[in-house]
Amino acid sequence: MARQRLEIVAGLSLRNLKPRVWDGTSPFHLPALKEVMVSWADLNRMPSIRRKAMREGLHKALDIPPSVSIYLDNGAFNFAMSGGEVSRKDYEEFVLRAKPDWYVIPQDYIPAPRMTDKEQLDCLERTMEVNLAYSHDGYVPIIHISRRLDSYIERLKASEILNRKSVVALGGIVPNLLRMPKAMAYDEVLDMIRRTRAEFSDKRIHVFGIGGTATLHIAALMGIDSVDSSGWRNRAARGIVQLQGCGDRLVAQLGKWRGRKPSDEEHKQLSECQCPSCLEFGIEGLAESGIEGFSKRASHNLWTLLEESRLIDSHISNGTYACWYRDHLNNSIYRPLVDSVVKFDDALLS
Ligand SMILES: [Zn+2]
Repeated sequence: MARQRLEIVAGLSLRNLKPRVWDGTSPFHLPALKEVMVSWADLNRMPSIRRKAMREGLHKALDIPPSVSIYLDNGAFNFAMSGGEVSRKDYEEFVLRAKPDWYVIPQDYIPAPRMTDKEQLDCLERTMEVNLAYSHDGYVPIIHISRRLDSYIERLKASEILNRKSVVALGGIVPNLLRMPKAMAYDEVLDMIRRTRAEFSDKRIHVFGIGGTATLHIAALMGIDSVDSSGWRNRAARGIVQLQGCGDRLVAQLGKWRGRKPSDEEHKQLSECQCPSCLEFGIEGLAESGIEGFSKRASHNLWTLLEESRLIDSHISNGTYACWYRDHLNNSIYRPLVDSVVKFDDALLS
């Protein structure tokens, strides 16, 4: 099992780039952040930014320093929801001119758990067609957690040029972890991630859309190299903050959103938070409404993920993970999953 540090790629929204977590002059600057992700679906909706990025390059257009890498996601999930197709030519041209640091193939076809075997096979055929058509240059191939995973692995390995890629992206985990209809059992999902890791031991593996503090443990333990998430922003917009080692808590009452409120102990934990936002604005800042409150919660959430990843990494490297997580990771519905991963990996228990 690989033991590199899990990188957190922060999903951005082009409609609102605040809080500017990559900006050294912002009170919300997070120096540990090294990667952000923008979505082609977003760029498609915002032609002025898209054109600017094609003229000036993505970094300059978004005013993101070169030290922070920009990943481009194809937005396939959004296009699938709206029944649309990605214009491959437009995407290709954008990649060429806007120069993202990392970019996936223009479109993939996500197999929903409720699909029949034949429908899932169809998704595989269509995704593999795009993987092969874009096996050149820096395009990152995509495979999906599904009942067809083995065929994906086999087909990717069968192509000499695809097999030479240094990175592969793994999608389709989220609907299974969210227990959508006919979702696979958790153990099966873990087993598939494990198989992908073992089969592609020479490649970096990126997993789409993992954003809770507990799911980070699973990704890190399984040797995943990077994950992306917009969860830090989505949660902040609903008045929710993430806490180290446990689930989400509601700290700002913003209309219809509901959630579990912090206990006294969790309140104390938040009041001692060392993130730049809490250090400057205190716990009261997290409860504010409007863009100010949103920015404070969002940067707090992202800092929490980065810090959690740092802690996981240091405990795995020191051989103290198995002792540490038992106390650290409480109140999470994913705890039994982490237990099962730890139990499977004897090295962690020795
Ligand atoms: Zn904080």
